[in-house]
Amino acid sequence: MKKIIIANWKMNPSTEGEAVKLAKAEDEKNVVIVPPFPFLKSVKNVLRNASLGAQDVFYEKEGAYTGEVSPVMLEKLGVAYVIVGHSERRRLGEDDAMIAKKVRAAMDTGLKVILCVGEPLNVRRKGKRAVDVFIKKQLSYIKNKKNLIIAYEPVWAIGTGKNADPDDAARVAEVIRKKLPVPVLYGGSTNSRNAKSFLEKKEIAGLLVGGASIDPREFGKMVTIARHIRS
Ligand code: PEP
Repeated sequence: MKKIIIANWKMNPSTEGEAVKLAKAEDEKNVVIVPPFPFLKSVKNVLRNASLGAQDVFYEKEGAYTGEVSPVMLEKLGVAYVIVGHSERRRLGEDDAMIAKKVRAAMDTGLKVILCVGEPLNVRRKGKRAVDVFIKKQLSYIKNKKNLIIAYEPVWAIGTGKNADPDDAARVAEVIRKKLPVPVLYGGSTNSRNAKSFLEKKEIAGLLVGGASIDPREFGKMVTIARHIRS
């Protein structure tokens, strides 16, 4: 299976014009472009090779939920993937129970789910066993593995310039796969200099890229690296 690279643009760029330009620059096979909600449609219109993803989803199909976006709305826009449980959303108050509801609703609508899991620094400091226990607990809420991808993203590595040790990331990916046999990505301050060290691990199916994904040159180098990895 080819390695997959997900571009999580977070709350970038500021304008639709910039989003379309960035999407055109990153439109490669085995790439998923994940722009902010307002740019989904215009990005979709220019993609020829990459798939489209959304950064979040709500768990109800319709109703009085101010500010939320339903899985059906996303699916109708041509969205194929949705990120659920990103640590930046967990930090704003989403818990494992809510995340499990979002996963189920997205799957029921036919969306592929990229579920983010990962330990905070205080857990990592306690050692590998504590990390494994923490991640298994996050996974224990998930009952269905159809259309599921897991992104192992240690919270202390996201946007910090710090990386997991690739051997340990591969080890955690295997722990995850024993509980839920699905593709496992790595995410956390990846760039063109460290991408290979993660992508060459057979346990790691690809990368979830944040900061580096809004730099098309840097992202392009990562996609090229992924393409040259034998799996
Ligand atoms: C992310 O947004 O999931 C992420 C891993 O961000 P970054 O690559 O910037 O650490």
